[in-house]
Amino acid sequence: MKKVNILMVEDEIIIAKNIARKLRNLGYNVAKIVNSGQAAIDYINREKPDIILMDIAIKGGIDGIETASRIKGIVDIPLVFLTAYPSDETIERASQTGCYGYLIKPCRDKELQATIQMALSKHQEQLVIQKSLQDTVKEYSSQLDKIYLNNLTNLPNRLLLRDSFDYLKASLNSNNNNDISEANNSPELRIKLIAVLNISLDRFQKISNFLTEEQQNTLVQEVAQRLNNYVSNLDFQGITVYMKEDHFVVMIPLDTKITASNYGEEILNQLRQAFCLNNQEVFISASIGIAFYPSDSLNIEELLQQSEKATEYARSQGGNRCQFFTFAFNVKTSSSSEGLYMEAELHHALEREELELYYQPKVSLKTNSVVGAEALVRWNHRTMGRIEPYKFIPLAEESGLIRPIGEWILNRACRETKRWHDAGLNFLKVAVNLSGVQFRQLDLFHQITQILFDSSLEPKYLELELTEKILIENIKTNVQRLNLIKKIGVQIALDDFGTGYSSLGYLQQFPFDTLKIDSCFIRNINSNKVNFVITKTVIEMAHKLGLKVIAEGVETEAELNCLKQCQCDEIQGFLFSRPLNAKDFQKLVMSNAYI
Ligand code: C2E
Ligand code: MG
Ligand code: MG
Repeated sequence: MKKVNILMVEDEIIIAKNIARKLRNLGYNVAKIVNSGQAAIDYINREKPDIILMDIAIKGGIDGIETASRIKGIVDIPLVFLTAYPSDETIERASQTGCYGYLIKPCRDKELQATIQMALSKHQEQLVIQKSLQDTVKEYSSQLDKIYLNNLTNLPNRLLLRDSFDYLKASLNSNNNNDISEANNSPELRIKLIAVLNISLDRFQKISNFLTEEQQNTLVQEVAQRLNNYVSNLDFQGITVYMKEDHFVVMIPLDTKITASNYGEEILNQLRQAFCLNNQEVFISASIGIAFYPSDSLNIEELLQQSEKATEYARSQGGNRCQFFTFAFNVKTSSSSEGLYMEAELHHALEREELELYYQPKVSLKTNSVVGAEALVRWNHRTMGRIEPYKFIPLAEESGLIRPIGEWILNRACRETKRWHDAGLNFLKVAVNLSGVQFRQLDLFHQITQILFDSSLEPKYLELELTEKILIENIKTNVQRLNLIKKIGVQIALDDFGTGYSSLGYLQQFPFDTLKIDSCFIRNINSNKVNFVITKTVIEMAHKLGLKVIAEGVETEAELNCLKQCQCDEIQGFLFSRPLNAKDFQKLVMSNAYI
């Protein structure tokens, strides 16, 4: 059998020799003895022993504990500390390096052997766990790839569109904040807006009647390819997304609306060229509707609706043309001057007490009863009526109003929860959503501690919900910020999990307590095999990482049953209850409602 190679780090030569002799007698191979931390690191950079025995108090240079943490940054080798004088403080520091054991000198043969063997087998176990974790993550990523790409066209789908939009929006905003020199004419620096081009083929149904199913698919594939080739070779590069049937969306960050219209015309031109399906020429045309961020809307779902309306209009004018969205298509919803009005009104929302928190129950699948709630903000305006958060939170972020509004939300949620506790419901937890701007506020930590103090709510009953895209920009700082918040006992949840795929690999670095699976995976989980497999895998992976899992947007019994089957911990959704005002929420919990 291969001998175990040991590196010894010990500055007292007599002790070192003595232990080395014992080790040899026990059948180990002492590969090297070094007398300083630096020498140990140099050795590790060349060789890879099976285990390291290291004195904690090496004289001169870096001490044993520091050496251990540096070695950990280089390779993963199990390490056992040796010491003559163990103080509580050293033991505490040593245990934080993730060492595998601790021996007090002089040690007996049996102790030496047992500690080494235990360290080796613990390390082996660790490797197996890590491997299975990696496998799960890998499997999960490849499943996600599948749902991000459409099978037929190999183009990304709507899910990716949403992510890319967030990404483009963020880079556009940071671009505009930088000092832009006039002389520099690179496309990236000229970007001022994002164009959403909604493309749909004219008379597709009619043409389809003359084609076999295979030919229809080929036609859609060829259109996809033409669009994708064209868009990826532009000066301003965008993405092409397949929505459904004959329906595509191209999203491009641009300098002016004129450029968008030029691109649109060129796309029409490209699509007018003949398609060849099994030696049969087919001619088609398309209608394109275009909407712009930020002038038409700040929200991608709304931009999609607007561009679709513009497409319908283009089609009603005979097709084969481009049409910008205008608010005339849309008498009921906001216009950009209305956007300004809304922002002005938002300034008064707090003092006029127009904001209100609604609470959506979270239900444990172990006890089948309510364990807490997510606070969801609503704006009740005098004339505009009820305004949904997706419409005004981005406005609040852009105008800086998110600071006082966010503070109000946190404060209100904590106070109302404390009131429920005082009314006997002292188990309820409350989850509050944090927007990106809010999370980056320098005094956020201070704000949270102050609010907890003022409301007398115990920190463990407060949970903050953050999305991946907020966290991935500045991982190191964000991990530190979260750790600080966690230290006082506040819980952290990852919201909308699954929609920010890009940072999956980073997930393990963040100190989350809870993972909230986005409703798009829960939808029809009972009939959609892919969603079921993904959700099941995510839950397994999360449990391995020690996280609790909650499913959002559960609407049907069938979805619930699948989630139970997947061992999901909690659920939230219309099936159990819509978000309720504070009074109704309290009533519901007091009535002992259960699922
Ligand atoms: P979210 O944090 O993912 O919140 C879940 C959203 O899903 C809520 O929409 C909720 O009403 C809705 N929902 C819950 N169950 C179901 C269901 O079964 N089916 C469907 N179709 N929808 C369901 P809401 O209240 O419109 O909030 C939308 C988003 O706005 C939230 O997404 C969150 O990102 C943001 N938001 C809400 N309140 C706040 C807040 O106080 N502060 C901040 N910064 N953002 C907030
Ligand atoms: Mg949330
Ligand atoms: Mg969510």
